[in-house]
Amino acid sequence: MAVTVRPEPVKAVQPCAVCGMVLEAMDEDPDVPYAGDVFTATGHYGSTMYDPVFGGEHLTLTICTDCLSGMRARGAVTRTLLGVHGAEPERLIWGAPGEAERDNPRNALRLKNERALAVYAGSNPQAMYPGLYAELMELCDQDSQAGVTFNPYDAVPPAAKTSATEEQA
Ligand SMILES: [Zn+2]
Repeated sequence: MAVTVRPEPVKAVQPCAVCGMVLEAMDEDPDVPYAGDVFTATGHYGSTMYDPVFGGEHLTLTICTDCLSGMRARGAVTRTLLGVHGAEPERLIWGAPGEAERDNPRNALRLKNERALAVYAGSNPQAMYPGLYAELMELCDQDSQAGVTFNPYDAVPPAAKTSATEEQA
């Protein structure tokens, strides 16, 4: 009776799929190569090469920084800004003029709002009773979803404002 031997799982970083350069693993993690990026393909109809009809698998390959830089220079790579709070995702040519500065406006607002909260919490530690940060984070997220600027000074409950004022006095 024939015995099917399963191939051993890969435990080392794959060499660059383009030039074959051998890459080192960061922290001995084969999924985190140094000077390379790991890409995943789930396949698709019409690929003519890889279309796992029932899913449950994907292909993975590593491309070294030099090869990826060349691909970016040729405009062959896109960068997708994920849709946030109802904003549509955007797909940009990675490395195109002005591309690096682009962000999803809703994501930019979310980051701005969360930064405002972090700055508030950092500069008013005496006002941050247990649970307040979580409450403010929820209000911050609501503002981000509504597309408005979050002002932590307006959002802080009166009790916290009072205690902060008392302690500052
Ligand atoms: Zn390479």
